[in-house]
Amino acid sequence: MIPAGLPPLLALTLAGLAVSAIVLARYFASSGLFAWLTARAHPGLYRGLGKQIRREIGWSAIAALIYGVPAGAVLWLWSNRQATLIYTDWTAFPAWYLPLSVFAYLFVQDSWFYWSHRAMHASPLLFRHAHAVHHQSRPPTAWTAMSFHPLESLSGAIVVPLLVFVVPIHIAMLALVLAIATIMGVTNHMGWEMFPRCIVHSRFGQWVITASHHERHHEDYRCNYGLYFRVWDRLCGTDRGLSEKLVRRGRAAA
Ligand SMILES: [Zn+2]
Ligand SMILES: [Zn+2]
Repeated sequence: MIPAGLPPLLALTLAGLAVSAIVLARYFASSGLFAWLTARAHPGLYRGLGKQIRREIGWSAIAALIYGVPAGAVLWLWSNRQATLIYTDWTAFPAWYLPLSVFAYLFVQDSWFYWSHRAMHASPLLFRHAHAVHHQSRPPTAWTAMSFHPLESLSGAIVVPLLVFVVPIHIAMLALVLAIATIMGVTNHMGWEMFPRCIVHSRFGQWVITASHHERHHEDYRCNYGLYFRVWDRLCGTDRGLSEKLVRRGRAAA
């Protein structure tokens, strides 16, 4: 993708910009798709939110730029220097390692998010300077997925790029992790539950986060801090269950 023989700094900058453009395109594709589905499944849900959505897209564009820089560096180091633990040979590790590596990546991301997110709510200074932007979305929409202050974007953007130097992962499993991150980031904010009640209200649903759980965070602030799993929230007593509003909305649409 980046011509060989360029000075490393220039090559890293170009790789960062290229990945930023891809992250931005991914944001428009995923948020656009689920906003379109929202308009079909719940017509009028985003009525009157045009100004908020424009602001969300602006913050998300800055976030895409920030997310692209470390990811571009990883891409370049992987393809030009073989410096990461990303592998392409399916037989390099036993088959059971494939799902385990996906779970490990999600769990580390979730743990970092839980504790950094909780810290941002515990400190008024951190909240004001890093997290208030995300909570300006009232209620959140499919476009809120990447609406973060640059400081919060930075804290989220470094986790996976650091992990690829510590935990080996197949390139396809890394793509799966990024796909899960993208889809859950969008759908957890879109204002309605896409998973059926038999999943959301099941034993499995008591441990994973979907829109009904994260919406409650946007309603009450001081609870439900997790990203993918309810493990830390439940262990630390910060889980307040699901958003009544979304559960009712789901019942009405059924
Ligand atoms: Zn949120
Ligand atoms: Zn928050």
